[in-house]
Amino acid sequence: MQYVSTRANGATASQSPQQFSDILLGGLAPDGGLYLPTEYPQVTGAELDAWRKLSYADLAFEILKKFATDIPEADLKALTQKTYTAEVYRNARDGEQASDITPLRVLEEGNGKKLVLQALSNGPTLAFKDMAMQLLGNLFEYALAKKDAQLNIFGATSGDTGSAAEYAMRGKNGIKVFMLSPHKKMSAFQSAQMFSLQDPNIFNIAVEGVFDDCQDMVKAVSNDLTFKATQKIGTVNSINWARVVAQVVYYFRGYLLATTSNDQKVSFTVPSGNFGNICAGHIARMMGLPIDKLVAATNENDVLDEFFRTGVYRVRKSAETYHTSSPSMDISKASNFERFIYDLVGRDAERTRTLFAKVETHGGFDLSGYPGGDGDEFHKVKEYGFKSGKSTHEDRLNTIRDVADDYGIVIDTHTADGIKVAKEHLEPGVTMIVLETALAAKFNETILEALGQDAERPAGFDNIEALPQRFVVMSTDVAKMKDYIASNTGL
Ligand SMILES: *Cc1c(COP(=O)(O)O)cnc(C)c1O
Repeated sequence: MQYVSTRANGATASQSPQQFSDILLGGLAPDGGLYLPTEYPQVTGAELDAWRKLSYADLAFEILKKFATDIPEADLKALTQKTYTAEVYRNARDGEQASDITPLRVLEEGNGKKLVLQALSNGPTLAFKDMAMQLLGNLFEYALAKKDAQLNIFGATSGDTGSAAEYAMRGKNGIKVFMLSPHKKMSAFQSAQMFSLQDPNIFNIAVEGVFDDCQDMVKAVSNDLTFKATQKIGTVNSINWARVVAQVVYYFRGYLLATTSNDQKVSFTVPSGNFGNICAGHIARMMGLPIDKLVAATNENDVLDEFFRTGVYRVRKSAETYHTSSPSMDISKASNFERFIYDLVGRDAERTRTLFAKVETHGGFDLSGYPGGDGDEFHKVKEYGFKSGKSTHEDRLNTIRDVADDYGIVIDTHTADGIKVAKEHLEPGVTMIVLETALAAKFNETILEALGQDAERPAGFDNIEALPQRFVVMSTDVAKMKDYIASNTGL
């Protein structure tokens, strides 16, 4: 399996096809595009039948080996077995099996319609980012050991991604993590999760500023190419291809658990921000998984909903990005969207490059087909099954209440956006699976507002705020930040 950039036109040296291991530790392609396989591997009905009996780890192995063809199968099998265990994904609800890894729960059934929840948040940090990040940690350690190399991950987080990365990389050989977060701006739960880690390879840096300041510092440091090279700086952001592939697995898992034969179709509703999660659903569908609709659910930051309603992609400025009660979806620019657009425009790299150049110069593009726009591919979106919807703070509160009343479980704010939108897209004969992207305990403030009581915490999280914390506070001084990194990498 080979990979190309969504912006690669012709095979110049830097843009020639790459293997899975070549792109594993990187981010963007050198030309600014995102990596995709030259073609999507196809899955047969016979394979799907055989996969119905597999454990999650074995299913992950079967799917990953189609993409990571340059990793010996025995090694890949060992990596998936080590990652997808009931121990790692132990935070299942009462009555659900942790060994299912992503257990399904039927919420509602009647009139031929069926609404199902797939729990993706049972990992160490209680958000779906653990599904891919745990595998990434093991893949990175494996790849670095082979090359006798080291990697220093440098990133910024407003909460979920940073903790998922730290829990995946803690204690790993050859890897150090330097994670910036805005000082005193994360929830007490989120800070405690990250800062209570005592592993010597984890460095938490609380920056005196807001999240944007943290991100600016990451950019400033990364733009110093010499520093980046000597300090072996890498990232783990949502455009990482291995993360996307790891997410493909649970779409197969959800389908196989929700159906009894391959004649049946399901739809997925996905709480969306950077388009990473639902992009994996798109890839599963392109591989031949019988997915009917892929429904993107957004919050008030509705860049994606606007595109799937109108064909106009219009990114927002920071000042137009709302701070909402489903904060992990507060994005103004969907960093994985280019992967879908590349497929939508017929894998035309030149055109993809032109469209995303226009995002930089004009803040977006218009594929609606209206005169003066940038194309008419919007009419093809339905061939790819995409639909969308939007949910507000008021909707979240109502949905959290309704779900507690009707189904007897407490869901988090992002999942609430998903359920609200899913209910608008139920169809007879097609099971609708909503992906649960976090557990309620992470966003307790809004649970309290909706239900008047605290969200339950899974075992082991009871008193995390009281644990000793390990972090440094720093200003937004880039030179000092570089000194700090260099003194701790020893490079
Ligand atoms: C990251 C995140 C999302 C958004 O996922 P994307 O891949 O960015 O679309 C949704 N919900 C939660 C809880 C998240 O952490």
